[in-house]
This record gives sequence, structure tokens and C-alpha cells, in this order.
Amino acid sequence: MAALGDIAFLLTEVLQAPQQWQALPAFADTDADLALQVLEEAGKFVDQQVAPLQRVGDEVGCRFHAGQVSTPPGFKAAYQAFWQAGWPALSCAPEDGGQGQPAVLECVLYEMLAGANHGWTMAPGLLHGAYECLKHHGSDTLKAQYLEKIASGEWLATMCLTEAHAGSDLGLVRSKGVPNANATDGSVRVNGSKIFISGGEHDLSDNIIHLVLARLPDAPVGPKGLSLFLVPKILPGGERNAVVCERIEEKMGLHGSPTCVMRFDDATGWLVGEPHKGLNAMFVMMNAARLHVGLQGLGLLEAAWQKAHAYAQERRQMRAPLAAQGPSTIAEHPAIRRILDTQRAWIDGGRVLAYHAALQLDVAKHSPDAARRASAQRWCFQRPGLPGRQRLPAGVWRPWLR
Ligand SMILES: Cc1cc2nc3c(=O)[nH]c(=O)nc-3n(C[C@H](O)[C@H](O)[C@H](O)COP(=O)(O)OP(=O)(O)OC[C@H]3O[C@@H](n4cnc5c(N)ncnc54)[C@H](O)[C@@H]3O)c2cc1C
Repeated sequence: MAALGDIAFLLTEVLQAPQQWQALPAFADTDADLALQVLEEAGKFVDQQVAPLQRVGDEVGCRFHAGQVSTPPGFKAAYQAFWQAGWPALSCAPEDGGQGQPAVLECVLYEMLAGANHGWTMAPGLLHGAYECLKHHGSDTLKAQYLEKIASGEWLATMCLTEAHAGSDLGLVRSKGVPNANATDGSVRVNGSKIFISGGEHDLSDNIIHLVLARLPDAPVGPKGLSLFLVPKILPGGERNAVVCERIEEKMGLHGSPTCVMRFDDATGWLVGEPHKGLNAMFVMMNAARLHVGLQGLGLLEAAWQKAHAYAQERRQMRAPLAAQGPSTIAEHPAIRRILDTQRAWIDGGRVLAYHAALQLDVAKHSPDAARRASAQRWCFQRPGLPGRQRLPAGVWRPWLR
């Protein structure tokens, strides 16, 4: 169940998010009532449509057959309902078809989704990063063709970085993008093989937009020679592009998300951003993904706490100190209470940190005051200990420091 009461308390009382939104012209219309109404509807969608698919997602899992991936029963219908209800576009800009709501509301949505059904949530989880990457680095032509479809979630997206020999060390990437001399549309031919690609192939959306790191022919060696290419599964004319899923990986506990080995066989793609600056463009996507990976952990921790708490309330063993007669529930034993309360402190502390980061991302983007924008940017991206690192605002509760 979505923990709306706790989340609303942290947002409105602890972080005072509504006051922060009022200071940003982009969110002047978003007050506490509107935000809580959005989160309530999000909670209903998560509890009614996504959470019930958790078991089938893991027991049946994604299936691979002859290059096609089918997702578990119910996944496609839930995804179609999700994007058609406008959830992926919650914090995208109105000019791109988005609803222009604060980033922290999207964060709460994805935290609830991950706790309810991590496998299902992996598919839309990359959308916002792909949207930001294309918005900041895509050409006008690419934006006209792809931005709204990605913002709305009608088409899903992937990030194709990892190769068998290049994981943490992306400087070793060997995939190539060669300008297509015969084409008048500025396209390149992309060749190479990628592994571990989340949502590389599936039946959830009609098209899949791959953002692929590869090297142009004159590229310097190492990470500074990487360029980013947009490679759609279905080309603008409607033909299938030469992008092939070779197999899906088996992994424990996340069978609802297809982790794919992908092959690009002279696939048609287009450069995103400048040549050899692919990592800069990809970092826009990776930075969005970082916060969402943290939120996955929070969602899962909340789900685990709810189960542990419910069990502790019903399981009776021994008589607790000060209890009346007969066995007590184990929740009454101080040692168990300490475990459960420690979990809760981690959840609340993690939430404050994640939501504060999301609020600062919006300040960095939308504040009319340049100094506030710069300070928020530093808070989000500077490493601890470097000059200029801000502390949390005075009065913000810091349970993890106790
Ligand atoms: C479920 C799942 C989904 C994924 N989805 C995607 C996706 O959508 N797109 C994509 O491109 N990739 C994806 N990946 C791949 C992921 O990005 C890589 O696993 C990651 O980059 C690490 O690479 P690696 O597994 O090759 O580990 P390696 O790079 O081989 O690292 C092995 C270990 O060595 C450590 N290590 C490496 N270098 C150093 C160093 N310099 N100093 C100290 N320690 C070091 C690492 O931290 C790690 O613990 C996914 C992986 C998983 C498990």
C-alpha cells in the first residue's frame, strides 16, 4: 500500500515543499492540496493496477522467443493505462505535452511504483532521463519526431552503454557509428553489441527508442571518443530497424524486467548532441537515473517494512515485559520494536534526502534567482567536502545523524 500519510507529512511539514514551489514561477499553481490530490490518485493507480501484477511478474516473468520478448500477463494493459492516464508526463514541460508538475511528485510516484512492482517499473523508469537527454542535446528534427512520444510514454526508451568487455569502464566501448554517405537525412549506421540493456525489447509499447553510446570513425580512444546516437526500433517510415534482441538474462527476483543482449547490425541512427561528447549527453540521463535508483531502494524498503510490521502485529510468542497475561505479539517485544523502528528511521531519512534532492533540482532549473539556481545545482552535484557544499536547511529533521 502506498504510504501516503508519511509521505505527505515529510513533504508538507518537514520539507515545506509547497512554500518552495510557490517561490518558483513554474509551480506557482501547485499548492499542498493539488499535490496531495495528485499523489492520492497515483497511489490508487499503483495499488489497483500495478501492485497486483507483482506475483505474476516474478513467477511467469518475461519470455524470449525468436527475437521477441513477451512481458508477463497484465503488464502491457497496465502500461497502456499508465501512459494514457498521463503519468509519465507528470513533470515534463507543458510545451512537450507534459503536465509541468514538480519533480518531487514524480519521485514519489516512482518510489511507490518500485515498492509495488519493481520489475514492471523498470520499463518506464528510464523515460524521464531519456526525455531530459533529448530535450537538452537532441537536434530540432529529433525533438520534433521523438520528444513528445517519450514525454508521454507512448514510446519507451533504453540506455545502451554496457558491452561485454565495457561495464564501469565505458572508455572501452567498441560499438561504431559511421555516417551514412548515401543518406540525405544525416543518419549514421550503428554496429555493435550491448549487454544488460533494461527493456531492450518487449511488447509494452509500439516503438522503443534506444540511446546508444558508440564511436565515430575519427574518434579519439577512451571515454572522450564516445558519441551518443538515437536508434529507434521502428524507423520514421514504419520499417523495422536492424536492432535485434539476441536473448534475455536470467536474474533473481526481477523476472518482470527483460535485461537484454542487443545487436545493432547496420542499424539506422542519428547523432544526439556533438560528436565525441556522448558521455556529456548520456550523463543527463544517468543523473536522472541515479535519483530513481535511490527511489527504488526506498520503495522496496517501505514494502519490506510494511510486511514485517504486519507480521509482527499478528505473531504471538512469549510474554513481553509489562504485558498482561499470555503470549504477546512480537511487536510488543522491545528487541523487535527496535528493529522495526530502525527500518522506519532509514526510510524517513532516505525520503528526506531524496525529496530534498528533487526539490533542489527544480530550484536549479526554475528559480528566477541565479544565485539560488547555482547553490541548488551545487547541493545536487558537488561531492561532500568540496567548498560550496550546502547543508540541509536549518530545522530539517536528520534522523540518520542520530
Ligand atoms: C539489472 C541490471 C540492469 C541493467 N541495465 C542496464 C541498462 O539498461 N543499460 C546499460 O547500459 N547497462 C545496464 N546494466 C549494466 C550496469 O550498468 C553494469 O553492470 C555496470 O556498469 C557495472 O559493469 P559490470 O557489471 O561490467 O561490472 P565491472 O565494471 O566489471 O565491475 C565489477 C566490480 O568491480 C568494481 N570496480 C570496477 N572498476 C572499479 C574501480 N576503478 N575502482 C573500484 N572498483 C571498481 C565495480 O564497482 C564492481 O563492483 C544493468 C545491470 C543490471 C544488473
